[in-house]
Amino acid sequence: MKLFILLTLLTSLAFATENDFSHMPKSFAVSGGKAVFADFSQANYSINYDLNAKKASVLAEIKLETLEDGYPIFDSVSAPESLSIDGESVSAIEISTPDQATTLRILDKVIKAGKHTLIVNISLTTLIEFVDGGVKSAFWTSDLSERKFLERYLPANFEFDQVEMTFLVKFIGAKAKQVIYTNGIVTELDDNTFKINYPAYYTASSIFFHTVPQGATSELRFTLKSIDGREIPVVVYFSKTSFGASLERLKDKTIEVFHELESDYGPFPHPSITVLQAGSGGMEYCGATMTDFSALGHELFHSYFARGVMPANGNAGWLDEALASWRDDGYQTISSLSGSSRMSAHPYYTRITDRAAYSFGERFMSYLDGKLKSKGGLKVFMRHMVDKKVFSPLFVEDFIQEMTNFYDVPVSEDFKKYTFGTEFTNSGLKIKSQIHRKMSLEEMQKFL
Ligand SMILES: [Zn+2]
Repeated sequence: MKLFILLTLLTSLAFATENDFSHMPKSFAVSGGKAVFADFSQANYSINYDLNAKKASVLAEIKLETLEDGYPIFDSVSAPESLSIDGESVSAIEISTPDQATTLRILDKVIKAGKHTLIVNISLTTLIEFVDGGVKSAFWTSDLSERKFLERYLPANFEFDQVEMTFLVKFIGAKAKQVIYTNGIVTELDDNTFKINYPAYYTASSIFFHTVPQGATSELRFTLKSIDGREIPVVVYFSKTSFGASLERLKDKTIEVFHELESDYGPFPHPSITVLQAGSGGMEYCGATMTDFSALGHELFHSYFARGVMPANGNAGWLDEALASWRDDGYQTISSLSGSSRMSAHPYYTRITDRAAYSFGERFMSYLDGKLKSKGGLKVFMRHMVDKKVFSPLFVEDFIQEMTNFYDVPVSEDFKKYTFGTEFTNSGLKIKSQIHRKMSLEEMQKFL
């Protein structure tokens, strides 16, 4: 049995690496050579919160592999304080991609194709608040503006890359116990030190992490029985200052949505569920969300599509928002659609999601459902995608190919017409973006 588990694990890891390489963005020319993307296989983050000095720092040790000689690419919004590659000190510079779609960092040293170890030191200063003898800190993300995934807080890779990640979190000088809400496995090493292991399928958009001093939140823990027999641990919580929120109501809604999703798309893909009720709209993570009450169904749906069937880049990001919005409005069917969009056709290195996904994208899914009605409609394909493609980040082209194969009906012309256009044209549709309304850091800070 153990051998079987080991073999399964090795096979799935090998598959993840293969998928990473086939979805890695192309290298590009920079002065003196090429900037090359890397496959990160392991990233260990030591995160130290010094409560006396009111400072936090991160030491990241990243095992990576490049396929070409060149300047290796990574990203971190904060400028690194020091870096080394294979033990040699280096520096890094921030540059734009040739299409100006995004900004990233490259080392100032050409390295040979192969396996390397990158070490990065940074200060953690974003979304952190030191309170009497404790700290409130979170790594909340957004896909609606640039560089708002893990790279907002820690050195990380682009979203295509699945990386086995660990956190070693130390609260130095803590007067009270810190509580950690996260979608990884937490081991308490001592009163103030915690090790967190995240599943190897996680990417830069997967991790939910939030720590507060004990007593700052109200929480309810329970388990949900999956249709596959697992007892899935669940925590629902909110800040003590969230007036009017009800844990029982949050629990009931979580249970209702969980059963709806399992009956439509099969066993819940993740080993735990974490729900923080806060903010306006919401954001999804693997088996977790920070959301207002009204968006809870939408956000948990994303544990199947977005954080289950995952986008490998910005041009695939609209698919899951279109599907989630299609669910929110009751899976409507239409037989014709006017207008077009460029949801799939932003510049190559784009990392963010086109907001037309919530409106035009939803209508496009309604249209596909109508077109495929005689073949069972769109939901049977979604279930198939969860079965076949869960945890394999994909391009929109992969999605189109899977759909074509599944129905044996050509759909690429529809995607081309409605999603590979040059602009969003459908004057009758308003862009709905309340679900993932972009919260500023100041707004997020209020919910720490
Ligand atoms: Zn969404």
